[in-house]
Amino acid sequence: HTQHAQEYVNALFETVVKRNPGEVEFHQAVKEVFLSLIPVLAQNPAYIKLAVLDRLVEPDRLISFRVPWLDDQGRVQVNRGFRVQFSNAIGPYKGGLRFHPSVNASIVKFLGFEQIFKNSLTGQAIGGGKGGSDFDPKGKSDMEIMRFCQSFMTELSKHIGADTDVPAGDIGVGAREIGYMFGQYKKLVGAYEAGVLTGKGIGYGGSLVRKEATGYGAVYFVDQMLRHKGLSFEGSTVVVSGSGNVSIYAIEKAMQLGAKVVACSDSSGYLYHRDGLNLSTIKRLKEVENKRCEDYVLEHPDALYVEGCSGIWTIPCDIALPCATQNEIDKASAELLVRNGVKAVGEGANMPSTLEAVDVFLENKVLFAPAKAANAGGVSVSALEMAQNSARLSWTMEEVDAKLQQIMNNIYKECMDASEAYGIPGNLVIGANIAGFVKVADAMLAQGI
Ligand code: GLU
Repeated sequence: HTQHAQEYVNALFETVVKRNPGEVEFHQAVKEVFLSLIPVLAQNPAYIKLAVLDRLVEPDRLISFRVPWLDDQGRVQVNRGFRVQFSNAIGPYKGGLRFHPSVNASIVKFLGFEQIFKNSLTGQAIGGGKGGSDFDPKGKSDMEIMRFCQSFMTELSKHIGADTDVPAGDIGVGAREIGYMFGQYKKLVGAYEAGVLTGKGIGYGGSLVRKEATGYGAVYFVDQMLRHKGLSFEGSTVVVSGSGNVSIYAIEKAMQLGAKVVACSDSSGYLYHRDGLNLSTIKRLKEVENKRCEDYVLEHPDALYVEGCSGIWTIPCDIALPCATQNEIDKASAELLVRNGVKAVGEGANMPSTLEAVDVFLENKVLFAPAKAANAGGVSVSALEMAQNSARLSWTMEEVDAKLQQIMNNIYKECMDASEAYGIPGNLVIGANIAGFVKVADAMLAQGI
């Protein structure tokens, strides 16, 4: 059975590559899932017979559209917008929107594909989707951002809805952008459908803890993983890449649990502060003043700023939390982290480690929390936001945080249980993929072809 499953995924992977030429990030995400699923496919012939994976790797639809907008000089600019609606087997499509120059069909598809399994792991009724644009928010004025968001939503609004597809933020999309998009959606449909977007401002349908959720959730997950081995954040040295929403709140929670966080980064370079980062400076620079990591050293001259962001992995640490972007840790960086004694790696970003880097961590017995599981806190609180919108009420900070912790603990347990059930105890990569897949696959079988 194992050999048959192996041949099946090999052949299907070839088809995926042929059908999606050049989409290397999408291939990478698919390959990881395929390799993990061999044991579960071997034990459940119906999954192969009824072509569950063949169906899952082809999105329900990929929408690609033109986004024209006027810049401050009155010139017409054109960007490309995407929404991939990957699977609604267990709930409406759900996933963020990314505004970044690197966004293309491959990026959106890798993110949307992973979102299927991540959302399934949360235990909530949400399917997988993702979207975005190659629009670069860097250096744009507030009014340019607004006009772009309005134009983007003018087209996107035709494809989304509180029971159809519910976008949220991702890189380059925070509460401000969600606000502009929600305003435009409301104008277009003429109704207050709060549940059509998540990550909204607290005053108009947003949820407490949504902003913190991905970072906090990643640390809650890693904390579970450490405790299982009798370790903890207390007294550990932590490196967190990135300095966006995920990073800032991962840093905050790690510090609350007694860790010393010594480094973070942005797309230009990284900061190293041996005595521990000053989080309030980082929050002010990044959340209020829209400045760079480089500016931190003006206020903290004992900290070091180094150009080039991959160098952050040369810093020795006990726990590494990659929270920037895809493929930020390659094989060489992983080997360096191992050589410097890293004990645990928790992925706050989506697919931050290459396949080779993951192998290095697993081979060297580094505790490894894969993105699908570790960063599921963000989308989990998005689903809680949808629930609050439907019920027309708002939960307190304590209520939402308690639910988030519970969800992250459950995800950890499910991944662990799946890894044990399929004979690779503690391999959370395989555990997360299997646990996420089985629920979706069974729903697909139940619903027919
Ligand atoms: N972009 C986040 C993710 O990768 C959040 C998605 C959401 O809240 O819908 O899961």
